[in-house]
Amino acid sequence: MSKRRIVVPIAVAALVVSAVAAISPTSTAAPPTTKPVVVQLAAGDSALLRLAVPNRAMIDTLVAQGADLTSARADGSGYLVDGVFTGAELAALQAQGAQVTQVIERPGDGQSRYQASVAAEQARIAAGLRPKVAGANIPDTAAANTDTLHFLQAYWWTSGGQTFVGTQVATTATDDPNAEITVSWRTADGTTGSYQLQRFVDDNEYQYHFANPQPVPAQPVQLTATSSLGGTANATPSKWPGVSPPPTPTGYQKDFISAYMNPEDVKARIKRLAKQYPNLVDVINLPNQTQGYRRTATAYLGDPATAAVIVESVKFGDQGMNGVQVKSVDPGAANKPMKASYKDRVLTVSLATDAGGAIVSTTDDVAAFIAAKYPQTFHAYVRNGQSGKVMAVSGPTRMTDGLMASAGVPRKPWTVQALRIGVHRDGSRIGVLAYSQEHAREWATPLVTLEFAERLLANYATDPETHQMLEDVDVFVIPTVNVDGANYSFNDYNFQRKNMDDYCTGANRDPANRNRWGVDVNRNYDVGSFFDGYVGGSANCLGETASGTAELSEPESRNVIWLAQQHPNIKFAMNVHSYGGYFMWPPGAYKADGRITLPRPSIDESAQFLAAARQIVSAIAGERGTVTWPAQTGPVCDVLYSAAGNSADELYYEDGIFAWDFEVGNDLWNAQTQQWDGVGFQPAYPEAHGEAMEYASGLVQLVRVAQQYAAANS
Ligand SMILES: [Zn+2]
Repeated sequence: MSKRRIVVPIAVAALVVSAVAAISPTSTAAPPTTKPVVVQLAAGDSALLRLAVPNRAMIDTLVAQGADLTSARADGSGYLVDGVFTGAELAALQAQGAQVTQVIERPGDGQSRYQASVAAEQARIAAGLRPKVAGANIPDTAAANTDTLHFLQAYWWTSGGQTFVGTQVATTATDDPNAEITVSWRTADGTTGSYQLQRFVDDNEYQYHFANPQPVPAQPVQLTATSSLGGTANATPSKWPGVSPPPTPTGYQKDFISAYMNPEDVKARIKRLAKQYPNLVDVINLPNQTQGYRRTATAYLGDPATAAVIVESVKFGDQGMNGVQVKSVDPGAANKPMKASYKDRVLTVSLATDAGGAIVSTTDDVAAFIAAKYPQTFHAYVRNGQSGKVMAVSGPTRMTDGLMASAGVPRKPWTVQALRIGVHRDGSRIGVLAYSQEHAREWATPLVTLEFAERLLANYATDPETHQMLEDVDVFVIPTVNVDGANYSFNDYNFQRKNMDDYCTGANRDPANRNRWGVDVNRNYDVGSFFDGYVGGSANCLGETASGTAELSEPESRNVIWLAQQHPNIKFAMNVHSYGGYFMWPPGAYKADGRITLPRPSIDESAQFLAAARQIVSAIAGERGTVTWPAQTGPVCDVLYSAAGNSADELYYEDGIFAWDFEVGNDLWNAQTQQWDGVGFQPAYPEAHGEAMEYASGLVQLVRVAQQYAAANS
């Protein structure tokens, strides 16, 4: 799903004085502090930042401006917002009181981390080591009626040696924005402490009060919630997820991922797996080729700072249009009409003059003239804000598609591939689909699905349980759904989320927008879509959640649907995204004005979703102790945001598939600052590796869930 909260699910709690955990004197933990970080960021550069912002209005403004927000959570004195910001945007926000609390990623980080991971892999091979591939608060002065409180969630768990408590509490005073709820906890040895909850309102509907997981010195044995309106409730917290991780058999092989993998690397891995395990693998070429890592070529004719026309090739740059030159000339005589010639790969525009010999052609005149004279070869648009300006003599300037990848990265349309894994690949066995990298910048996600695939294949011969899994289950894996966007993310712009299809028109086709074009693949599906009126998509071709020109306008989304519909035995699916540490299922979208969600699953199905989720969360935790928060385990639209036209909803409502979403890359507890730190889309490789290992374990557990389901329903 990832990472753009169209609806920021946080209440108007900005006036709450402090909701940081008030740890009692008997506890050793220090109170959290939000420490500002000094950041040098040029106006035009971008970085993924975690900001502390003082109020909700700033978030609303950012959303309205189309900011690339990835998350927002209430925190103590205000809100913590993750997003990709330019230096100019940051300066404006800082002037309004925002502070940077964490620099998660800078533009060059991804590339250098990719290269570092590959170099480490090469060094290991050079050292003779076997490559791993073998194997608010205003006191309520109004008359306050006593409210009633209910614990919706009361859980504790331990991760990385630290114990946490996670709570959600609902008040019957749903319409009172000043109702304040405090939770106090007690451990077996009598240590106590307390923390404040935040009111959570989504789309103007009260949901509950909550807090991010709070550190506690030991297992809490008693929780008491107290409302400022007088209500109280008690709960005995239970252990989350409350299921033991599956044992790892002796000799079980894993860790087949040794560096970040770009689309070429993924393709090579698919090829090797098919060759190495011919009896267990089919490679499926998905039918809808992508546009390819390619763009039209553009150049400015005139002075781009004051008066320019964007000249754009009709064909892609790699189709002979890179290097074509454009220039404007003075005819050197009075009363000349505009003329243009295109020969020897040079477009020359001779500008019109008046009786005194002065140039009179405007940007609009020139753009219209080029477009009319060479409709098969060039498009031309006036730059934004430069209409009616008189053109100057300029050029020659070379047209370019601006793509930075080496020639080794193919510019052609790309065939997206899926792996089909199992002993009986004939539709007779229950099917499980794992697919990843709908969002280009989420580099850890193909590592998750490929590690999962290879664990099944490598252990088939030696581990009886894996052997039985591949007897019982037909596994489908699409490691990289959005290949073109991934190539752009690896080679051009780290933070690319969308694909490379540019549906902008006119001045929005200015190459200055090159990092903003594309369609959000996971907003392009046809259930609960933007086109149906659901929240969380956009018609703005430059928006981070651009939904495309129509439902399923994109080959990437059509490929996922094709695979599911061609194989009706698929009954379970996992859509792997990053980051944030979520585990979610439908409904994933609602309509505004009443928050009308897609239909809720039945009670039985909801129970199935949650029971399976607990098993899978426990398997993830078994790898390195990462616990996905109970508050981040549940229906998408409840725990994250409304995501109109996402693929999990499509698969569930249209095809009857139990369809989940992972957001891998859980926040990490920082014991020093007593804060949760975000990991980002492209963390230093060891973190991405850890995410791949733990979430691959989650996918293996999903296969067990499918086995259990098939056995129970046969
Ligand atoms: Zn995503």
